[in-house]
Amino acid sequence: MNTTYKAIEVSRPGVFSEVKKPVLDPGPNQVRIRVETCGVCHSDSGTVEGLFPINWPRVPGHEVVGRIDALGSGVQGWVIGQRVGVGFLGGSCGYCEFCRNGDLVNCRNQQYTGIQHDGGYAEVMIAKASGLVSIPDDLSSAGAAPLLCAGLTTFNALRNAPAKAGDLVAVLGIGGLGHLAVQYARQMGFEVAAISRGSDTAELAKKLGAHHYIDSSATDPAAVLQSLGGAKVILVTASGGKAVAETFKGLRPGGVSIDLGVGPEPIEVTSVDLIFGNRKVEGSLTGTPATGDATLRFSALTGVSAMIETVPLEEAAAAYARMMAGKARFRIVLVTKNSAGQSAPLK
Ligand SMILES: [Zn+2]
Ligand SMILES: [Zn+2]
Repeated sequence: MNTTYKAIEVSRPGVFSEVKKPVLDPGPNQVRIRVETCGVCHSDSGTVEGLFPINWPRVPGHEVVGRIDALGSGVQGWVIGQRVGVGFLGGSCGYCEFCRNGDLVNCRNQQYTGIQHDGGYAEVMIAKASGLVSIPDDLSSAGAAPLLCAGLTTFNALRNAPAKAGDLVAVLGIGGLGHLAVQYARQMGFEVAAISRGSDTAELAKKLGAHHYIDSSATDPAAVLQSLGGAKVILVTASGGKAVAETFKGLRPGGVSIDLGVGPEPIEVTSVDLIFGNRKVEGSLTGTPATGDATLRFSALTGVSAMIETVPLEEAAAAYARMMAGKARFRIVLVTKNSAGQSAPLK
């Protein structure tokens, strides 16, 4: 077995370098993974641009799929050779107040993958067993990767939303998250309205399963939602407070606007719009590993899949730049030499 592995690390903000790192044994309650694929996510910018406090150098990447090749002491329930995934949440501690209350997402000792420890832009990664997701055989490693963050985030928010089958659910923004959210919403039995700017996206939105397409550059999306009876849920996958505010009046009484797009802009809604109709604005942060399992199983059962571009690990810097420029359609997945799948160099 090789004693070193290739990784693409960020040595200081904005600077990627390809390095060889020694293969280490996993510590207690950790596993070592031979990484096959890793999705490139907008949240990787938290590492690459140093938005989080980072101990440099750091390997980004939190949509990781690979096979376990070593178990640390105390690991139970996972076996060598098993294909697993790692998402943004690195694994809960099991003993803090939030864990003891069953709220694993908000564990006080949770570390973020690719931020406090090295992530999946690499051929090998060490991960905490409590953060692992199991990958169904029906999903390819490249197909599964984006479901571990973009998929889990949208699936979890919709699954926990108050909408019932037949209710109107709107998805704002048809990008990396939104193109998955439309598919999940359709497969969960909702009436689905997709909202985006321009008429170009209409056909794609319908193909993904939207019953309605609302061009927010040509019409007031809130008024259109009200003409359809008002949305029970608006899933905001676009970032920016304006996006939330613009559509908020499209909620029916008791409806909720769930914000998934991170940005510095404040969200301005009037107290009148909140109070008269008991409407809510809330945020939702990814999901637990068990919901990750459910996301992947649901995707395999219903055929929900991310539209991806696969590129070799060595091109991580170019892939990241392409994603940040908003050119990815819709998720880029890095593929390592451990994967049986194909990848093509970026042009
Ligand atoms: Zn992510
Ligand atoms: Zn905890």
